[in-house]
Amino acid sequence: MTTTPADCCAAPEQKLLPVEQARQRILQAVQTVTAVEQVHLRSALGRVLVEPLVANVDVPPFANSAMDGYAVRSQDCSDSMKTVLEVIGASFAGRPFNGEVVAHQCVRIMTGAVLPEGADAVLMQEHVKRDGEQISFAGNSVKPGQNVRYAGEDSRQGDTVLEPGIKLGAAEIGLLASVGVSEVRVSRRLRVAFFSTGDELTAIGTPLAKGQIYDSNRYALFGMLSTPGIECYDLGVIPDQREAVRAAFQQAGEMADLILTSGGVSVGEADYVTETLAELGEINFWRMAMKPGKPLAFGKLGNAVFFGLPGNPVSVMVTFYQFVLPTIGKMSGEKARQALLIQARCSEDLKKAPGRMEFQRGFLKRQSDASWSVSSTGIQGSHVLSSMSKSNCFILLPAESAGVKNGELVTVQPFLDFN
Ligand code: AMP
Ligand code: MG
Repeated sequence: MTTTPADCCAAPEQKLLPVEQARQRILQAVQTVTAVEQVHLRSALGRVLVEPLVANVDVPPFANSAMDGYAVRSQDCSDSMKTVLEVIGASFAGRPFNGEVVAHQCVRIMTGAVLPEGADAVLMQEHVKRDGEQISFAGNSVKPGQNVRYAGEDSRQGDTVLEPGIKLGAAEIGLLASVGVSEVRVSRRLRVAFFSTGDELTAIGTPLAKGQIYDSNRYALFGMLSTPGIECYDLGVIPDQREAVRAAFQQAGEMADLILTSGGVSVGEADYVTETLAELGEINFWRMAMKPGKPLAFGKLGNAVFFGLPGNPVSVMVTFYQFVLPTIGKMSGEKARQALLIQARCSEDLKKAPGRMEFQRGFLKRQSDASWSVSSTGIQGSHVLSSMSKSNCFILLPAESAGVKNGELVTVQPFLDFN
């Protein structure tokens, strides 16, 4: 449902929108960007796969040794007092032995080398005594397949090794190389434009005049958006003037799939973001049942998805993590993942009033008994950006919570996917 800023401002406190509902509404409203690119494997790191990928070869391609030792026929190696075998050659990784092992023979073999024909097991070199062209050992019972890695044990030729919708990390691009894939189809990089609004904002490198602060949101946003799947455009600081905000909207609307702004979504007299979005695009303006991050504008500007994030720096990071990150995932075609939530014992009292869900900043630590404990990073104002820097998780306190006592269990969301 679309509301105007005026509607929302008239909304009584109980009309605050619960976080999970907002996330669902947002994810229902956004579409996956369908454009696709074919890229070399290296350039695919951090990108979202759009096709199933099939192994071109078996991995490993041939039966090979898991150890440095001797390739033997298991039936030659009894449990008797002493087995003696003749060494008839050597098989190195990349330089196979081309003959066949017959009764009472063996081949010196290195890790990764082809298991010679006739052999069905490998004895570790530490378990044999070498004497010229003979080895001997005692008390060993050698099983067929011992220390052998069979063809296709990891991936089989023709098998789908990765499904579409997966974000390719280091393990995935390594896996694709192992099955011989050199190019993959991934979704196009998402174009994200962002700008800050506020007359009080000063660029770093310039002294602060009275009433000015440095613009930190653009740096935090730059940090959170600097991932391989995103092309980000920093459109600078826009003053609190209707015309300037409108011009920035138009510029962003022409270049981006996703637009993020910070500030100017409260209901102060110099807050033009909501008003401009209502005028040029489609807007949902919500007062969220969350702290920090109560005001949030979400809508469309032309074909672009638009988030008017709050101005306070912690609110920017919290709303980015809770709403923008899953939106980026869906727009990039990534399969939705379940949030990783952990129960941890709180090591102090936490203050909270019932009404809004809180995302307090915490530090999660493993205890010597392997359980988790979490402590607060201290003062929790939405302007206290150092609380983000000191934390490694959000402590999620449900709307109805009236605070936490030392020793109680709380739900914690560790920072993952957060640059
Ligand atoms: P606003 O929503 O524009 O009223 O801003 C809320 C608070 O966030 C105010 O204290 C602003 O000064 C602060 N703020 C807004 N934008 C930024 C920014 N880019 N960097 C740091 N603080 C900001
Ligand atoms: Mg402002």
